[in-house]
Amino acid sequence: MNLSSLLEWASGLGERARRDEPLAPYTAMRVGGPADLLIVCRTTEEVVEAVGRARAAGVPWRVLGGGCNVLVSDAGVRGLVVLHRADRTRIEAKGTVWAEAGAPMAALARETAARGLAGLEWAAGLPGTVGGAVVGNAGAFGGDVASVLQSLTLLEPDGRVTEQPAAWMEFAYRESRIKRMPPEERPVVLTATFRLSLGDPVALATRMEEILAWRRTRHPSGATMGSTFKNPSGNHAGRLIEAAGLKGYRIGGAMVSELHANFLINTGSATAADVRALIRHIQAEVARQFGIRLEPEVELIGWDADERR
Ligand SMILES: Cc1cc2nc3c(=O)[nH]c(=O)nc-3n(C[C@H](O)[C@H](O)[C@H](O)COP(=O)(O)OP(=O)(O)OC[C@H]3O[C@@H](n4cnc5c(N)ncnc54)[C@H](O)[C@@H]3O)c2cc1C
Repeated sequence: MNLSSLLEWASGLGERARRDEPLAPYTAMRVGGPADLLIVCRTTEEVVEAVGRARAAGVPWRVLGGGCNVLVSDAGVRGLVVLHRADRTRIEAKGTVWAEAGAPMAALARETAARGLAGLEWAAGLPGTVGGAVVGNAGAFGGDVASVLQSLTLLEPDGRVTEQPAAWMEFAYRESRIKRMPPEERPVVLTATFRLSLGDPVALATRMEEILAWRRTRHPSGATMGSTFKNPSGNHAGRLIEAAGLKGYRIGGAMVSELHANFLINTGSATAADVRALIRHIQAEVARQFGIRLEPEVELIGWDADERR
């Protein structure tokens, strides 16, 4: 990897390029060490260029959207982190909505509902970007990305830009083809197109208010990654963790929320290692008491393969 040639190019980008930049402030959990280089990209063209330069220099890259569903290691991330902030959106003909991957998903839900388009109400208040939601097949309240995505534009690891139908993503519960790929083989989501239907703006706004109220009362505030584990088939991760007696359990500065046991909280002083140790402890306890293995929903970034397991 020729990091120095990438750094030389990046030095011309001004404040958009940040050397040895701590990643904690870019994540919802507020933990994580530095990226060798972080580049803030506010247009799709900037994303394509940054990734192209990294490829040419043999430097690994990783994309961060809102950083809401990741646990970045204390050692940080070697190579380039692209902070995807390209956020243009457009309502197209017949209820089709196009968005750049850095657009906030909750804002897209709000805007489309206000224009009388139904299908994204479930994303009211969902933290993170369109790209992160697509990769993780985010969902809530009976809806998810898989049920409304029509197609997407990808930047492939070899530099080609391709258009794929939603079926290409092979979505499953909080899973997609991209999420199943090893990091170095993953394409970057550049844009997504959603197929929505006509709805009554007032009814849609009411539904979204209900969802926001539910989130406000049931989800803990503060630094958290949202649901840490996927729900095992026919069960709820939160219920299992609570039944295992782990509500309020702490390792270092990381704690199982008293409000919702599938949410881990950074009480202020957590390290990524604290959070990782808490995840392992919960998995071990739930497996010991109920014989069920909880699978993380969050992605571990900057950890080696053994640590990710
Ligand atoms: C309080 C709270 C509540 C939450 N509630 C829910 C919920 O109800 N339902 C739900 O599903 N999730 C929920 N989440 C989790 C999170 O909001 C979603 O997973 C969200 O879609 C993540 O988007 P992001 O932009 O933050 O992705 P990130 O965390 O930045 O990234 C997640 C993964 O996607 C990859 N990625 C991001 N953007 C791109 C891109 N453009 N191209 C390729 N790869 C990319 C990253 O490399 C990483 O592997 C919640 C989180 C919090 C903190």
